[in-house]
Amino acid sequence: MEEIEQPSDVEHFAIMQVCSLPETRPFRTDCMGVNYRPRAEDDSPCCWYHAQDWNTLSELAIGLLKRAWNTGLVAQASIYQFAYKELFDSDLERWWLVVELFSPSSIRVCTLVHPYDGRREAIYGNGQHRVQAMKDLRVERTVVLRHKDTVL
Ligand SMILES: [Zn+2]
Repeated sequence: MEEIEQPSDVEHFAIMQVCSLPETRPFRTDCMGVNYRPRAEDDSPCCWYHAQDWNTLSELAIGLLKRAWNTGLVAQASIYQFAYKELFDSDLERWWLVVELFSPSSIRVCTLVHPYDGRREAIYGNGQHRVQAMKDLRVERTVVLRHKDTVL
């Protein structure tokens, strides 16, 4: 995992291995279920999330994040604006999907402390279906908005 430590920020972006992210919990659609198998030879994906090329999109986002870090940006909102400006005028197809990886509604991980035994568990604040699609595609790494106390 690569990240810049910013103790004053509650959340900050990190580049994380997709296989290290918490297991997702099925909800809403069949393709989030444990019995779901990606349909490799089927070119009609089950849903919007499973229809994206998250390998390419994640690598684009990682390149952008590193450039943002190199200019001294660390706050989520600043990096989101940076990504938006960089990509808005580009001719990249689906540029808005890359920008979406920097939005407040993208992949967020934090820690749940269980009230009875104090056990700490990494959970999603958002982005479970996106991560499930990435896991199914065997995406290596992606951009995650990580709470500073996340146990991962
Ligand atoms: Zn799906």
